[in-house]
Amino acid sequence: MKLPLHIERSDVVVERGSLVFAGHTLAEIADSAGGTPFYIYSRELLNQRLAQLRAAMPAGLRLSYSLKANPNPQVVQHVAGQVDGLDVASAGELDLALSSGVNAADISFAGPGKTDAELRAACAAGVLVSVESSGELRRLTDIARAQASRCPVLLRVNPDFRLRAAGMMMGSGPQPFGIDAERVPAVLAELDVDALDFRGFHLFAGSQCLLPAAIEEMLQKGLALMAELAQAAPRPPQLLLLGGGFGVPYFDGEKALGFADIRAILGKLAGSAHDLLPEAQLQLELGRFLVAEAGFYVTRIVDRKVSRGQTFLVTDGGMHHNLAVSGNLGQVIRRDFPLLIGNRVQTEDLEAVTVVGPLCTPLDVLASATRLPAAAVGDLVVVFQTGAYGLSASPTGFLSHSLPAELLL
Ligand SMILES: *Cc1c(COP(=O)(O)O)cnc(C)c1O
Repeated sequence: MKLPLHIERSDVVVERGSLVFAGHTLAEIADSAGGTPFYIYSRELLNQRLAQLRAAMPAGLRLSYSLKANPNPQVVQHVAGQVDGLDVASAGELDLALSSGVNAADISFAGPGKTDAELRAACAAGVLVSVESSGELRRLTDIARAQASRCPVLLRVNPDFRLRAAGMMMGSGPQPFGIDAERVPAVLAELDVDALDFRGFHLFAGSQCLLPAAIEEMLQKGLALMAELAQAAPRPPQLLLLGGGFGVPYFDGEKALGFADIRAILGKLAGSAHDLLPEAQLQLELGRFLVAEAGFYVTRIVDRKVSRGQTFLVTDGGMHHNLAVSGNLGQVIRRDFPLLIGNRVQTEDLEAVTVVGPLCTPLDVLASATRLPAAAVGDLVVVFQTGAYGLSASPTGFLSHSLPAELLL
């Protein structure tokens, strides 16, 4: 029996028709989680993805982890030891990043709407602030002067292009993110170099892209734009934070990014950087790609009912723990995440079912067009690819159910 999406992995196997994670059966894991629902994050898969990516990266290219993809403290701690930096976007994420032991100088803080309190904390800690507007630049200048410290900054650029074929686009046109590229030279001209230490540029043009050509185009265009803007900078940029947007497959027909493609893209990128801005270090910032496949959401079937000919499996977990699986986190057309009945992994005796969560809303759907082995109350539904934008991107307060346990195995 092949696992969903035919992902090559050794951290989860099927033994006697049941999934086994890192040597633990689902029943054992449910016991140590204190019941269902719960999340499993796979240490082995995290290590594997990081090692594969590192092996495909040219020497000198830096990699940072964007905490918002999965801010579970154990996951952050585990990943932090294997990357060159962490990207945060709030005071809470900043605290988490600082407590993971990563050097403050290797933490970058982006996001529109940073409050004065957040800017003060960032400046005092010595983290790199990615400035999103000229107003924010003025506030940060005042704060750095008041603290008598020189705050390291990147200017985040809103490019005039976007990441094509991305699940979510975050560049080009009017944006709350970054300073419009054409305005950057004027902003640089006014930068108070006594208060702010200009380190380079930041650009993040989109997320969840599975098309190598689109990623390559975005990275090369981003680099070229930064090289052009560097001419107006008070000193040569030392760091170019280029985003990434690497995606993972979720749905039938989607193909994972290949490491050979990634290697080719990054090799060419390093070559271009050597020609254009040899003094600068390049850094990829990735969230989803590093953690999505490591995650499983496990929920128990509490009811099985037939309504006017349609079979429903009703589980104890749902969109309050994983909004994305329900299709309500930015998807235009709802599609089913890969999922299995974890204690009945078999290809025969399948039936068409709709899997729904316990919330009193028609939005709480885990699978609507799937065929699963005939399941009973007590069986465990395991949703794959849920390590990124899972629990922390969900409306956990909706209907006041308990939070799920999260286990790093
Ligand atoms: C969310 C975000 C990321 C991470 O994006 P992924 O698609 O999860 O890799 C990186 N940089 C910025 C600025 C972001 O907002």
